[in-house]
Amino acid sequence: MSKHIGWALIGASNVARQWIIDAIQVQANSSILNVLSSSDERGAKFAAENGTPAHTTDINAILTDDRVDAVYISTANQFHCEQTLAAARAGKNVLCEKPVALTVADARRMIAACRDARVVLGVNHHLRCNAMHQKLRRILAEGTIGRLNAVRVFHANFLPQALHGWRVNDPDGGGLILDSTIHDIDTLRFLIGSNPTHVMAMTQSGRLAHDGVEDGIMVIMRFPGDVLVQIHGAYTVPFSEGGVEFYGSDGVLVGRDCMSQRAAGRLFMRNADGEKEIPVEHHNLYHYALAAFSNAVRGTGQPAATGEDGLAALAIALAIRESARTGRQIEVEIP
Ligand code: NDP
Repeated sequence: MSKHIGWALIGASNVARQWIIDAIQVQANSSILNVLSSSDERGAKFAAENGTPAHTTDINAILTDDRVDAVYISTANQFHCEQTLAAARAGKNVLCEKPVALTVADARRMIAACRDARVVLGVNHHLRCNAMHQKLRRILAEGTIGRLNAVRVFHANFLPQALHGWRVNDPDGGGLILDSTIHDIDTLRFLIGSNPTHVMAMTQSGRLAHDGVEDGIMVIMRFPGDVLVQIHGAYTVPFSEGGVEFYGSDGVLVGRDCMSQRAAGRLFMRNADGEKEIPVEHHNLYHYALAAFSNAVRGTGQPAATGEDGLAALAIALAIRESARTGRQIEVEIP
């Protein structure tokens, strides 16, 4: 039987409640032992509502508990780095939410700390766990649509009222770029298999977010091989359907309804033979991510997105933010 994995949740968050608790519970030989909240009252309510056997406001209660093998960090973004460093020092494997950190230097410290402590660091970029994206990636890699020319990503939606906290009022940890565009970046890196060399962006603010926090964005990027990529993202657009379009010399691949948390997405290919739908067998994105992470903890394979993936996505996201703020084209450097 596989080794038991004891989990603690660091952060009484919405994403833990909605997706991750279930994704941990469906894994073989895994259980959630504790949840950390900065508020005793919120932690107690969260634990009661989600069947978590204990709650605490003291991270050391988790870090000194030998039964805890792994932590899932889903606190607000500014806490990810320090909590990961503390967990690594205590020998705990870390699945951290995105953005992995707020600075590239912090992301590097997190990677180094986990490497030194010989624990696994995963970053929860869930879209690469979508079966439609995984199939699209295989078709692209086989060269089926010829030489890639351009890509467009559509990821506009309307942010539900319940999520209007730090996302819309924190200029450092909040905003669309580190919340949502960073997922588009990770998905593009996963699908194309490289990093952009240059980025340019313009943002909107004030329709829903305030204090200069962006709530809409258009990004243009250049990838190696002279591939042009465009992203439209927004918190402010109801009735939109997320998607991707890949334009090659011999055909076009279109992914529809594939930029959400759901196990959804339809894939179409258009070429000289006409248009056909390519069947996709879907699986739960978070179940897939937790399975890959659990295997990595048990010594097999890697998390779906590693710390290095999280760092690269962050570096590109920060270059996009710099471009939007300065009006300049930014050359991307991934240390
Ligand atoms: P939440 O706002 O639900 O939770 C973040 C923190 O906010 C919690 O740790 C909690 O602090 C605090 N908090 C929660 N409710 C309240 C409240 N009523 N009053 C005051 N504070 C509160 O965030 P999300 O779940 O939306 O996001 C958490 C992290 O997960 C972020 O890093 C985000 O980027 C990421 N995320 C990832 C997704 C993915 O699919 N990969 C999807 C959504 C988010 P405390 O723990 O101290 O109680």
